[in-house]
Amino acid sequence: MAISKEAIYKTLSTVVDPEIPVITIEELGILKNVEIEGDKVIVFITPTYSGCPAMNMIELEMRTALLAEGIQKFEIKTVLFPPWTTDWISDSGLQKMKAFGIAPPEKTSRSKRVLFGETINVECPQCGSTNTEMVSRFGSTACKAMYRCLDCKEPFDYFKCL
Ligand SMILES: [Zn+2]
Repeated sequence: MAISKEAIYKTLSTVVDPEIPVITIEELGILKNVEIEGDKVIVFITPTYSGCPAMNMIELEMRTALLAEGIQKFEIKTVLFPPWTTDWISDSGLQKMKAFGIAPPEKTSRSKRVLFGETINVECPQCGSTNTEMVSRFGSTACKAMYRCLDCKEPFDYFKCL
């Protein structure tokens, strides 16, 4: 293997989430590890959400990135334990999410309450106000809830996946 696993990891860490194209899969905590077994590259990923259609896109982009590096023999393995939580999103990922106009997730214990239909004070990514209300439990994707800011009147998505 001419290419090191560190180099492969670095290549893959530039793949972005198609839903939030400013955040890489490394920042999201999806990309776990790269191993080389003989002449084969094995990539370990943990999906954000089992039903998330974005995961298919992410896998496709990872394949494209590996092929672009001349790597033909590889396997992408999904690791389900421990399950992904929003706590795995890095600080830079959370900041980019906010700059992109999506309210970053609260820590796990609170976001679970959102799934159970309780409303929590989500901070508006536009003006920082917590005077917001949930419009719909489902936003542009299953991973997001739709909110509206009562101060600046802007609607925004709240990333609610666990
Ligand atoms: Zn606002």
